Amino acid sequence: MEDSLTTIAVFQYSSEALIIKGKLESENIRVFLADEYTVDTDPLVSNAIGGVKLQVNTAQVEKAKSIIKSIDASLLKEEVVCVKCKSTNFKMRLVFKNFILKLIPLNGQFEYRCLDCNTNFKAKELL
Ligand SMILES: [Zn+2]
Repeated sequence: MEDSLTTIAVFQYSSEALIIKGKLESENIRVFLADEYTVDTDPLVSNAIGGVKLQVNTAQVEKAKSIIKSIDASLLKEEVVCVKCKSTNFKMRLVFKNFILKLIPLNGQFEYRCLDCNTNFKAKELL
């Protein structure tokens, strides 16, 4: 039995991670969010500690990944590389089209920022 946890996605804010967590849990996958409360306590530290890590049991990694892929493959940490320098060292955030919809997470779009060359690039629309 594998009891170790594997990080499969990283989010700047816990609200973003909770969207994916809810989806995975609806498919009977147990999800752990590392540093969720640290980031909630002070969102400014998110960048310093590497964001909220979405983790699943190592034994469930493949199932979890396939579910996330069915939503948006670019949400998976290792599926994304910088469009400019191919780095995988980036942070991710959910960008909303306007402030009224900021309360409704379904209209968000994930955007990445490469930490090596500072290029911003977008993921596909969520849902
Ligand atoms: Zn880059």
